[in-house]
Amino acid sequence: MPEGDAVYRTAARLRGALDGHTLTRSDFRVPRYATSDLTGRRVLTTLSRGKHLLTRVEGDLTVHTHLRMEGRWQVSAAGSRIPPGDQVRLILANERWQAVGIRLGMVDLVRTGDEARLVGHLGPDLLGADWDPDEAARRLRGAPDRTIGEALLDQRNLAGIGTIYRAETLFLRGIWPWKKVGEIEDLEGLVSLAQRLLDANKGHADTVTTGDRRPGNQTWVYGRAGRPCRRCGTRISRGEMGAQPQERLILWCAGCQPR
Ligand SMILES: [Zn+2]
Repeated sequence: MPEGDAVYRTAARLRGALDGHTLTRSDFRVPRYATSDLTGRRVLTTLSRGKHLLTRVEGDLTVHTHLRMEGRWQVSAAGSRIPPGDQVRLILANERWQAVGIRLGMVDLVRTGDEARLVGHLGPDLLGADWDPDEAARRLRGAPDRTIGEALLDQRNLAGIGTIYRAETLFLRGIWPWKKVGEIEDLEGLVSLAQRLLDANKGHADTVTTGDRRPGNQTWVYGRAGRPCRRCGTRISRGEMGAQPQERLILWCAGCQPR
């Protein structure tokens, strides 16, 4: 699942292809907006907000998309082949470029002034200009009995963390994922570390938290279930957190992150 850094890069690609250009094609392949047409309107810009994308279009309109589990935006030269079948949810194109939204988890078209209805619930964006670790920590403290593992994925607390950065951040701070939020002393330090990890990876497609970009060496615990911890040698544990059916993968080292 794409995390905040991947969505940030997607926004940059969409800006490069669409910003400032007039749309020559607009094709919403979702029933609710099947008759919507943005042709002839100029695209202003695309912003990322946590894992959400906001493409602002002339005339006070915003196209909101979310990649969810397996969505992606494919950018290519105008007229390139478009994937067949029902995977395509939205096409926005100008004379030079086309952006094809594939398997998008959400597609909405709203007034730009109403964007808050879609993203107003989000906590501080780890990669946003308004990132605020104190506010993120304040929101986390609002539910002190929650497990820190679940709280970090709740985008209302802070926006941008998925299962990879959750696992890596908790490992680096030596925190057991089921520890209660209220029992963690330095929440500001924890969220600041998560922010630095995302920021360090926002410019490239790999997720590197170890500082070593060689394949197989990039993470501490994520993708390493059953293998020895790089610090203490304990085998990395794998489990699931959260209530069904929303449970999500968690990896941790029982040696470095004791109960
Ligand atoms: Zn360990």
